[in-house]
Amino acid sequence: MTSTLPAGGDLVEFVQGQMRTPDHPLVAFIEGDGIGIDIWPATRAVTEAAVQRAYGQRRKIVWVEVLAGEKAKKLTGGYLPAATLDTLRRVKVGIKGPLTTPIGGGIRSLNVALRQELDLYACVRPVRYYQGVPSPLKHPEQVDMVIYRENTEDVYAGIEWPSGSAESALLIGTLKDHLGVRIDPQSGIGIKPISPNASKRLVRRAIAYAIEAHRRSVTLVHKGNIQKFTEGAFRDWGYEVAAEFPGRVVLEQELNGPPPDGVVVIKDRIADNMFQQVLLHPEAYDVIATTNLNGDYLSDAIAAEVGGIGMAPGANLSDQAAVFEATHGTAPRHAGKDEANPGSLMLSAVMMLQAMGWQEAAKILEDSLAKSIADGIVTYDLVRPGATRVATSEFARAMIARMQDMGGN
Ligand code: NAD
Repeated sequence: MTSTLPAGGDLVEFVQGQMRTPDHPLVAFIEGDGIGIDIWPATRAVTEAAVQRAYGQRRKIVWVEVLAGEKAKKLTGGYLPAATLDTLRRVKVGIKGPLTTPIGGGIRSLNVALRQELDLYACVRPVRYYQGVPSPLKHPEQVDMVIYRENTEDVYAGIEWPSGSAESALLIGTLKDHLGVRIDPQSGIGIKPISPNASKRLVRRAIAYAIEAHRRSVTLVHKGNIQKFTEGAFRDWGYEVAAEFPGRVVLEQELNGPPPDGVVVIKDRIADNMFQQVLLHPEAYDVIATTNLNGDYLSDAIAAEVGGIGMAPGANLSDQAAVFEATHGTAPRHAGKDEANPGSLMLSAVMMLQAMGWQEAAKILEDSLAKSIADGIVTYDLVRPGATRVATSEFARAMIARMQDMGGN
């Protein structure tokens, strides 16, 4: 099924994993469920304003709406219509609000389905502090990390069967008969595949980013002391990939004193230790590369250090496509009330503009958000003494007003 794309826009191309962006790129958007109806219009308005401020009439995003979630169910009868996947595959760049995952009923998480269908193998979550955001840390300004989470494998891939099912019985029987492993026959069973291919492409991407962005280190996070052939192998494959960057990286264990300028230190930490490290010594960590489930937990924990998931952006990347997304859920209690924090989706738009090579617009967008919060203009979740609580739409207007003094063409 081929969907029609709007006139006046051109397709973004991917060349060796990098975006080549025309002046009028087609960009897909999924509004999202719940607070999506509040935070998407605000994000769209500030993104358009930042692009206009940076480039005048020369550059403009041509948006393509694609349906997913409850809106798709209402309009098409399905949660993830074939036309949505077709358009995303063709347009290659998209941004999405949160989607409800209906509990039970055999429906896969729409987010997991999107990642698997488009092979978006790297989930990237930068976490840094914005002045004025309430934080549980004494020195939240020391937090500046970028998490690269493997997105396609692990126990997270959804390969599992319930207790008492024929599939679980088959696997339990096979393990007993062929490998002599005894498992309680009433167990549910989940499978944890970790491959060299998926691990290496993720770590390769993390190291390449660290070199290009002049970051200080890449930490491989794993639970290899216990899960030797999955998590431990991830660590070993990560070090193998590091050897592909001679002169650009150095292993922590080979260092005597500080690393040479511009060289990225490669180190590894066991996952449980890493949770205390990022709390006690956030300044010692920079880029993190890890498996799927570790990355899921760790990215929310690190986001909480700087004000929570309302402010943490995310991107799901392959070498041919990129989908940027708010990392929080649909927050149903706040939906339609024009009060949710649009920060996560707006900062996801910043990541999108950076990946498109539109650095000037990305900077205006990020600076206007940081300035509004520093000026005490905040949504309900970031209220602190001396700050003024505003609606989602008012926050967007405050940002656009601040853009008038920034950058410009
Ligand atoms: P949630 O992220 O929606 O909410 C967790 C808490 O954070 C709530 O207290 C909520 O009010 C608050 N919160 C979240 N985003 C906020 C924002 N932008 N501004 C202010 N406060 C915010 O998580 P949940 O309640 O566990 O999940 C609700 C639904 O969202 C479920 O259907 C779940 O499957 C889905 N979900 C989707 C995604 C996604 O699309 N990427 C991620 C997580 C959860």
